[in-house]
This record gives sequence, structure tokens and C-alpha cells, in this order.
Amino acid sequence: MLLSRFFLPVLKESPKDAEIISHKLMLRAGMVQQSSSGIYSWLPLGKIVLDKITDICRREMILTGANEILMPTLQSADIWKESGRYEDYGKEMLRIKDRNDRDLLYGPTNEELVTEIFRTHVKSYKELSLNLFHIQWKFRDEVRPRFGVMRGREFLMKDAYSFDVDYESSINSYNIMFISYMQLFKKMGLKAIPMKADTGPIGGDLSHEFIIIADTGESEVYLEKDYFSLEDNLKQVDYNQNLQKYVDKFTSFYAATEEKHDHNDPKIQSLNLVKTRGIEVGHIFHFGQKYSSPMNATVSHNNGENVPVFMGSYGVGLSRLVGAVIEANHDENGIVWPKELAPWDYNIINLKNGNVDCDKTCSDLYNLIKNLNKSVLYDDTNERAGAKLAKADLLGLPFQIIVGPNGVKDKLFDLKNRRSSKIERLSYSELSNFINENR
Ligand code: ATP
Ligand code: MG
Repeated sequence: MLLSRFFLPVLKESPKDAEIISHKLMLRAGMVQQSSSGIYSWLPLGKIVLDKITDICRREMILTGANEILMPTLQSADIWKESGRYEDYGKEMLRIKDRNDRDLLYGPTNEELVTEIFRTHVKSYKELSLNLFHIQWKFRDEVRPRFGVMRGREFLMKDAYSFDVDYESSINSYNIMFISYMQLFKKMGLKAIPMKADTGPIGGDLSHEFIIIADTGESEVYLEKDYFSLEDNLKQVDYNQNLQKYVDKFTSFYAATEEKHDHNDPKIQSLNLVKTRGIEVGHIFHFGQKYSSPMNATVSHNNGENVPVFMGSYGVGLSRLVGAVIEANHDENGIVWPKELAPWDYNIINLKNGNVDCDKTCSDLYNLIKNLNKSVLYDDTNERAGAKLAKADLLGLPFQIIVGPNGVKDKLFDLKNRRSSKIERLSYSELSNFINENR
């Protein structure tokens, strides 16, 4: 991508209304634009990262055998009245009337709608297990939308719903989602920590939140120190095996939020705990027959009996993750993308646009990188060298290749590792070897 052709409305000043670093950096780097309180437009750079996160999540869901569907954002109030949640959900739910005075709502979650789809079509245990997922915008009229996309009112969620004929198989479906979350966060370059959680308005008997550590996280968490050295040598798992032992491994560590943490328990006192802060990026729930009973979503068991189906639901905050990743990956100069989510792998910076040698070398490098199937952003604009370097640090691509009139005479280039800030001076062939080998 040529930067001169890319819509990147970078802000010079730090935005005053942004409280936390990810929000500031997302506005400064032209990733999003607020449209109204807690509601954002995604500009090209933000959209690229949001799509990367979404793709990783979608691919992992498909690996588990889940089926992708797409349910609407607007739902009829009728099914929520059936489940009993229409009144219970409170003011977070945006209620709408259509021209015929029918009650609609902008979905804050989809248990009712997916249960309705299920009960229309599935009647027998023979069609189970089933997991249906979708990736769709949600609306929750949060009391205090803040922190940019991290606590928005409209936000993108991946939500999956599992259906099973009995308790044991529904726990197995829960375990599959649990492990798929560990895998998908790892594939995003993130270390997620599963934590036993409250079930809130979704309800149920078993629930885990997935937290990533960042100083500005909304939840205060206590963690067993050993967690950080846990070698999560979880290769791509085969989802057809029994996953209980993996789940047990990840839940054998002590992890709790401030509210749940019990200071007086002697066992806890003997553990080596660290107190830190975290951001909830995913949440899974096992709630059995909570929705299927009132909504009469039953299946025939192999003993001939009809039973309300056992369910779980599984959310990932895709748009929140964009902010959360930046909270966990930045320095004083800007974003430092994990390589898995970087919008491009390389950033070529032409320090003297218009200089024949610099221009020629940069376009040769640009073609070389593309031919090696790596992605590259080339700053071919006419800005000052200092401004270009600052912008490159702000954008945070893993590697910068800096081409200036001095080095170019000797065919030498600076390769900067954004995370370590280390700069190496390399020849053209050293550079092409590096690009070839590195990813
Ligand atoms: P929170 O405790 O942060 O309010 P929640 O428990 O209400 O979240 P869930 O119903 O578990 O949220 O939704 C699944 C995921 O959706 C959450 O783990 C989170 O990553 C994301 N999410 C929830 N609310 C918001 C929001 N207002 N803005 C952005 N993402 C959100
Ligand atoms: Mg939650």
C-alpha cells in the first residue's frame, strides 16, 4: 500500500477527550472516528485490524466444527417476552417501535433468537451436538460508554451457541469453546487468562471470563505468579478428543477478580499472588436449559423422552480487542502491534521523496517485499523526514526500513525493529535475506 493513496487521517494533537492510551492512539492513528457517544465509524486502518481479529476468531470457530450464521441486529420483542428477559434486561436494551407499533429491539445478545432458529428445525438428539455462531454488531445502552471502542454502545461480537442433548455433552461443548478461546487469543499474539466468573443477565451455573493483562483494565485481578511461566505448549488441538485435561490445566491456577478474591482464606495466603489489572475480552457461559425450557426448545432423547436442549453461549469482544491489544502493546511513541495483528509487516520510509536514488530504491524494495508475499506500507509522501519517522512509530508496524540519501549512496539501509527500537544497517542482499526468513 502506498501511503499517499491510503486514507489515514492522523491527528497531530493528542485528543483531549480520550482518557486512556488505546483510545488516544486509535484516534491519533486515524483508526476510528466517534459518531456519537459510544458509537464509532471504523476508518481504513482500524478496519484492517478489526478484520484480522475477526478472521482469526472465525477460523478457530470453524476448526471446532461450529457453523457460521448471521442473525439480524433488530429482533422482535416477542421472543424476549417468551424467555422472560424483556423486562429483566433493563435500560441497557435499546427498545424500538416500528410503524405498526410493534416492539423491536437492537440485539444486545442472541440467546433467544438462536433458540428460536434451533427449535424450528432441530427435533432429535441425532442432529446434536450443534454449535451456531455469528459475528454481528450488538447494542447495549451502557450507563457510561468510555475508553473508546473498549466500552462502546455499539460493538462487534462473535457469539456462539451450543446445543446438546444432555449435561455431559454440553460440558464437552463448553470445553471445546474454552480451549478454542485459548487458541484464538494465542493466534492473536495475546496471552489470555481464564477466570471463573459470574453469569450476570445471561444466567447459568458455569462461566469463565478471558482476561488480558493491561494496566488500564477495568477489572482488578489476583493471579498466581506461576501462571506467567506456564508453558502453554498448546499446539493446534484436535477438537474431537476429550479436552477436559487441557481445561483443568488452565484452571488449576488461582485467578480471581477483586470482588471474588478472599483475603482470609489460608490456602490463598500461601499462594504467590500478583495483583494486576485486566481487560475482559471474552466470556463463556454454560446455562443448560435456562432458555430452552421457557421457549420450549426440546429434542427427543434416545430413550424416546423429549427434553429441553442444553445450551451454552460464548462471546468474544472483537471491537474491544482492537483497543485491548493496543493497551497491552504500546510505548511512549505509539502502537507496537503484535506481528499477528499488524496491519502490514513492513513500513518503508523514504526520507527524501523526489530524490531519484531514494525513490528508485524504495520502489525496488516495495516490489521485493510484495514478491516475497509480505505486506508493506510505503511512505511515499512529501512530509519532512522527522514527521515520517514519528508517524511510523505511531503506526507501530513490526519493521521499518528507512531509506535516506546518505545510506542509499553506499546501498545501505536501516532496519528498525519497532518493539526493541534496535536499528541495524544492512546491505540490500542482507535485507532481502532478512525479509525472506523473517515472519
Ligand atoms: P462487561 O463485564 O465488560 O460489561 P459483559 O460481561 O456485559 O461485559 P458479555 O455479555 O460477556 O459482556 O459479552 C461478551 C464480550 O463482549 C465481553 O467479554 C466483551 O469483550 C464484549 N463487550 C461487552 N460489552 C461491551 C461493550 N460495551 N463494548 C465493547 N465490547 C463489549
Ligand atoms: Mg462478561
